Amino acid sequence: MRAIDYHMHTKFSGDSEADPRAHIEQAIALGLDEICFTDHRDFDYPIDTFALDTPAYFQELTALQKEYADRIKIKIGVEIGLDLDHKEEIEAFINASPYDFVIGSIHVIHHTEFYYGDFFHGKSKDQAHEAFFKETLKCVQAFDCFNVLGHMDYIMRYGPYVDKRVDHGKWQSLIDEILKTLIKKGKGIEVNTSGYKVNGCCGFPNFDVIKRYLQLGGTILTIGTDAHTSDRVGEHVYDVMGHYAHLGVSDVSTFTKRVKDS
Ligand SMILES: [Zn+2]
Ligand SMILES: [Zn+2]
Repeated sequence: MRAIDYHMHTKFSGDSEADPRAHIEQAIALGLDEICFTDHRDFDYPIDTFALDTPAYFQELTALQKEYADRIKIKIGVEIGLDLDHKEEIEAFINASPYDFVIGSIHVIHHTEFYYGDFFHGKSKDQAHEAFFKETLKCVQAFDCFNVLGHMDYIMRYGPYVDKRVDHGKWQSLIDEILKTLIKKGKGIEVNTSGYKVNGCCGFPNFDVIKRYLQLGGTILTIGTDAHTSDRVGEHVYDVMGHYAHLGVSDVSTFTKRVKDS
């Protein structure tokens, strides 16, 4: 199984100062086979810094891709905030550039965000989690311009609840619908290792959800750290590979120009 980090942010994201070269050096030091930069683009982020300077992004990363070609495979992707209030702009944005890989993530639901916004205001944990999974389902049904769903379970990082964790059993039918929709559309799912900080044992989502995705017939899995600093590049990647292997997965998926590599 190849070691990949397919979710990394740099100075091209509004919430990171990281130098892409330092990410690459860290990935090589850890022996990763392939990485993909996935800086942010959201169309309704409350702090309004999630614009992406696409020409500068491609220029710098393409040069690094060439410079490091004999040491590590580098892909250029994007993490797009799936947001039903901005569907046409999102699709036009993705189609305007030759991204290798697109992560679709739910960061904003009808103008409210989980950290800066008031998404949780007046909602019990059950109401908030139900709303999150319902919106995730709507987004994966409505959008086609992404390759994998980003950090499913991300909602559990936030919220004013003593125990923020998602009760997957409670939302199993919604989660199944999300997974079935992804599979039907040829989309994958990532394990986002930033979840280890919250879960202790596993990423976003946990391995039971991955197991379910596989049981339902899913075949497209990536691993991403969501690193915003270079020290986190590759974090828990080998751990996730061990879990994937245990679940019978022979390899992760990689992408070029939004098509799965064979
Ligand atoms: Zn994200
Ligand atoms: Zn991210």
